[in-house]
Amino acid sequence: MAADPDAFQRLNDSEVAALEQLGVRRSVAAGDYLYREGDRGYDFYVVLAGAVEIVVNDQGKEKVIARHDAGRFLGELNLLTGQRVFVSARVAESGEVLVVPRDALRRLIATDPSLSDKVLAAFLARRAILMSGAASAIRVIGSRFSPDSTRVREFLARSRIPHEWLDPDTDSEVERLLEEFGITPQVLPVVIVTGAVLRHATPGVLADYLGLTVGKLAQRFYDLTVVGAGPAGLAAAMYGASEGLLTLVIEMVAVGGQAGSSSRIENYLGFPTGISGGDLTQRAAVQAQKFGASVSSPCAAVSLQEEAGHFLLRLSDST
Ligand SMILES: Cc1cc2nc3c(=O)[nH]c(=O)nc-3n(C[C@H](O)[C@H](O)[C@H](O)COP(=O)(O)OP(=O)(O)OC[C@H]3O[C@@H](n4cnc5c(N)ncnc54)[C@H](O)[C@@H]3O)c2cc1C
Repeated sequence: MAADPDAFQRLNDSEVAALEQLGVRRSVAAGDYLYREGDRGYDFYVVLAGAVEIVVNDQGKEKVIARHDAGRFLGELNLLTGQRVFVSARVAESGEVLVVPRDALRRLIATDPSLSDKVLAAFLARRAILMSGAASAIRVIGSRFSPDSTRVREFLARSRIPHEWLDPDTDSEVERLLEEFGITPQVLPVVIVTGAVLRHATPGVLADYLGLTVGKLAQRFYDLTVVGAGPAGLAAAMYGASEGLLTLVIEMVAVGGQAGSSSRIENYLGFPTGISGGDLTQRAAVQAQKFGASVSSPCAAVSLQEEAGHFLLRLSDST
């Protein structure tokens, strides 16, 4: 793993003490898994003693991406976004961990600026590393000439979700995979993830499987619902959520809007050397989610009406 110092920060004693108020200590033995690829979610773990390795399934074998020892913490952006787990955490040396529930961590980072800086910087740096390091966790098989396949790849790329694309016209590995998973060429594009093979894959089906759509949200009433996750929508969500409003963002294509596809924005105030549109909007989404906003994509708002003093927003998935 490339050595980005942000990804490997250690917590100091007072930060561990603050987290300890919210979590429980647990003894762990070498070989235990704290979470596995394909799990719907996971808690926030601090390594108190021993060591934990982050591994990804690569052609049936576990590839070690990182090793965390005492003082380090586990996790990456999916602790905020709610995306299904795509790497596993395996105890390499017996020891002890502190387990903090995801919601408790979220509340803490919304109110503790120093801890928030450290944890969010690590989550962002780790996602950048995992974009290539854990690409094998989500494999898309589809022709470069297929619009359906392009839509799936574009959704993953714009959402900054690690993945690997295999083109049946040029990639020699595809034949073996099709045979191994009993996939016929008629059902492409296909997405292969731990525990599932999604045939005739679409961004909606994939996002639903990954846990990124409104279907996964228990809540149906919001103080603020923002339609569109471009810079304007993300800013509205961030301000609403930071003022304590229960906030939902609905986006029909992918988080980032037009800005997300801009390779470099040179005229954004405060960034004299420019910033890529993807970096800018990813940071904006993380900032909104840090304050508790839920972001759901892809899903289109199709109508808005007032009913009994409430606004009713209908979505393209019929919710
Ligand atoms: C390639 C490119 C480069 C650019 N470079 C620059 C630059 O350097 N500097 C600059 O100042 N500007 C630049 N821009 C323009 C800038 O990106 C836009 O001004 C900015 O994104 C507008 O933000 P917005 O949030 O208002 O709208 P948008 O970014 O358009 O976001 C609106 C979002 O709403 C979603 N949406 C719409 N309807 C629905 C619905 N019914 N349900 C759910 N979601 C919906 C859309 O999918 C979209 O994601 C660039 C644009 C592009 C395309």
